[in-house]
Amino acid sequence: MKKYDENKSNRSKKSKHRLFKPRKKRNSEEDSAIQYLQGQYEQIVPENIDTFKDFPLSQKTLKGLKDNNYVKPTDIQRQAIGYALKGNDILGAAKTGSGKTLAFLIPILEQLFCKKWTRLDGVGALVISPTRELAYQIYEILRKIGQYHDFSAGLIIGGQNLKFEKKRMDQINILICTPGRLLQHMDENPLFDCSSLQILVLDEADRCLDMGFETTMNAIIENLPPKRQTLLFSATQTKSVKDLARLSLSFPTYIAPHEQTETVTPDSLQQSYIVCKVDEKVGILWSFIKNHLKQKVLVFMATCKQVKFMYELCCKLRPGVSLLALYGTLHQEKRERIYQEFCRKSNVVLFATDLASRGLDFPKINWVIQYDCPENVETYIHRAGRTARGFLGKGDGLLMLLPNEEIFVDDLRKSKIPINKISVDPSKVISPQRKIEALLSDNIELKQTAQRAFVSYLKSVFLMKNKDLFNVQLLDTDAYAKSLGLIIPPRIRFLQKLQVKNMFMNKLKEKDNVVEKLNSKFNAKTESDEFISEDEQVSNIPKMKTKKEQKTDANFNFHNFDDSEEEDFLHVKEKNVQLELIPLEIPKENKKKAKPVTKAAVAKKILKKKIKVNTTTKFTDDGEIIEDEKRDVKSELAKQFLSEDVGGLDIERAKEVLQEEDKFDKLRFREKVKAKHKEQKRKLKHKRMEEEGEKDDFGSQSESDGPDLSWLPDPNKVYDTGDHSDQHESDSEIIENRQKVINTDSEERYHRPTKRKLVVNRGISQDSVKPRKIKKVEDISAALTVDEAEALAMQLLYNKK
Ligand code: ADP
Ligand code: MG
Repeated sequence: MKKYDENKSNRSKKSKHRLFKPRKKRNSEEDSAIQYLQGQYEQIVPENIDTFKDFPLSQKTLKGLKDNNYVKPTDIQRQAIGYALKGNDILGAAKTGSGKTLAFLIPILEQLFCKKWTRLDGVGALVISPTRELAYQIYEILRKIGQYHDFSAGLIIGGQNLKFEKKRMDQINILICTPGRLLQHMDENPLFDCSSLQILVLDEADRCLDMGFETTMNAIIENLPPKRQTLLFSATQTKSVKDLARLSLSFPTYIAPHEQTETVTPDSLQQSYIVCKVDEKVGILWSFIKNHLKQKVLVFMATCKQVKFMYELCCKLRPGVSLLALYGTLHQEKRERIYQEFCRKSNVVLFATDLASRGLDFPKINWVIQYDCPENVETYIHRAGRTARGFLGKGDGLLMLLPNEEIFVDDLRKSKIPINKISVDPSKVISPQRKIEALLSDNIELKQTAQRAFVSYLKSVFLMKNKDLFNVQLLDTDAYAKSLGLIIPPRIRFLQKLQVKNMFMNKLKEKDNVVEKLNSKFNAKTESDEFISEDEQVSNIPKMKTKKEQKTDANFNFHNFDDSEEEDFLHVKEKNVQLELIPLEIPKENKKKAKPVTKAAVAKKILKKKIKVNTTTKFTDDGEIIEDEKRDVKSELAKQFLSEDVGGLDIERAKEVLQEEDKFDKLRFREKVKAKHKEQKRKLKHKRMEEEGEKDDFGSQSESDGPDLSWLPDPNKVYDTGDHSDQHESDSEIIENRQKVINTDSEERYHRPTKRKLVVNRGISQDSVKPRKIKKVEDISAALTVDEAEALAMQLLYNKK
């Protein structure tokens, strides 16, 4: 599967989006063929169509169909293709596995062919699917039947390389996508352009249009050109006027070839149900798997966490058949691999959520088990419809119901779904409970998975819209936990909170009764002191919490049941689940009171409190406020602008003001830079001066690294101190200091360079000292007589001693 392998897909970038053979030059022959085909559209009579050749289709499409063994059209194809070729909007409703995919893919190819669509024309057709797997499946069928056409097709689904998709968006003619990813491209990708869109198709249209996708779909539809052909297909088609209005369908043709049939599910689908207790489910499923090792089985469960647990548990229990699990929280690559594997294998069990319930055409499934009761009849139809597909497909469906869920069978029968009750032979049920307990005690991770599965199932039941059918209070939670191998049932926080709330609300109810009694008392009495005190008593209670307020609060507080781990679960079900607490119903007038908190309301509140929003106050370390200079305006224009108290914002004026302010900012900036440079220079100078004082000739800056000058004669002794200049004084001081330091580190001395050199470079060279002394002696001696000189010499010698 090229598209699903990211590495492969990168390697074969060209082949991926050039799905069909290179485009040949259109010639006049093709023009006349197109004209002929278009001329035939009005004469299509569905009843007269036996094979695809009877439709006025291009040779390229016919060849593609023939190559893939599509010879005779199915009912929905026979009826829908003709209308679609004529350019009508269509609402197509036909049973699961009845060939709806070709019913919209053939018209797409033909429409673009007749319009001589080229790569340069951009996106001509858009097919939206609710799941990635279904989008992939449609894309693969399009590749097969459209192989002789010269269009490019692209699969745009989440979990893929967005960058890779983005770059190629402008080359795509037929786009198969999921709603989220499509909107992402519409929002972020400048190369995405669907202004010339001709056909929009929604496969599983009712699902695409339901609450779960509502906002996304609305945004997508807004971005599409209104002048287009729209085709909607599903086994449970929407007839909602609101939906049709959203899509601005123009007089759509409703095509439902099976509307008059006795059943809404495929005739070759054998459907049955069993009723069992919640704690018997695991044992029954396990026994079923063990008894159907040579079959292809698809098991639907309510939540991702249940699927994960059941899959991991069964893997550990080793039933002797391949096991797979498919659910939304899996990584995309894994999802692809599992989808492929389940398509390929024949003896395999796949545990899945409703992710796999829509549209997927897994070949030759023998059994579809609905382990948990589906939330409505539509979901049942789609789940069961994964088997018994196509012309020859046969299959069995088994629905597992809890005793209180048996009423669902009535709904099914009312909806023309034939289903029979069967019973399970208890002797054939092998409960692996002991084994599960042992496994869980050994494996903490599996135990945690079990706990999560347990809670997620209870939550799913709790969140179901149909409260007559789903009642979490009726579940024997302890027994259910035990059946999952959990000896100690996990804490069900959301249920506990609910119970506490109920208790609290019951108490408040009682208080309300008191209030009512007191109120009636109040009405009966005349004004008196006694009344006043009672009135206080009365008014206090409802002020704290009235019954109505309590109920409203409870409704809001639902969101506080945030079992963070379970949050993703909340997305499993459709978003149209109306959250309401089981035991109490909220009267309409109360709902009105619980006004939604809008941004405007919050803003008003803030204004009332006179809180300045978006302001920053800086403080010094001492707690004094620092005025933010940056915010001060400098220019006259800005001052004038701020002083004008005019509502709204004059963009042009603001621009001018900003430009004016900009000039001051630039000046300020320049000054700052100058000051910075000045400071840097000053620092550098300072540093240099310091270095001058410290550095020796070898770059050593350390005091201890200084030269050993101990050998030098003491200049003070040599010179007469009174005659010395300042310079000499300071020099000798330095030398003395150095001597002191060096003498403390006797070892270092041996490694010092020659002392002479060092001193020379410090400007107090040995030469400069000794010769001076000699010179002085010479000078003096020159002025003396021989006797005087002799006497001086003698004195000097005496002194030396
Ligand atoms: P639906 O969308 O109605 O559930 P699909 O389009 O997935 O059904 O088709 C179900 C199966 O029927 C597929 O395996 C498909 O290949 C097969 N099929 C569809 N049309 C034809 C046909 N005209 N001839 C033979 N097989 C067909
Ligand atoms: Mg389909």
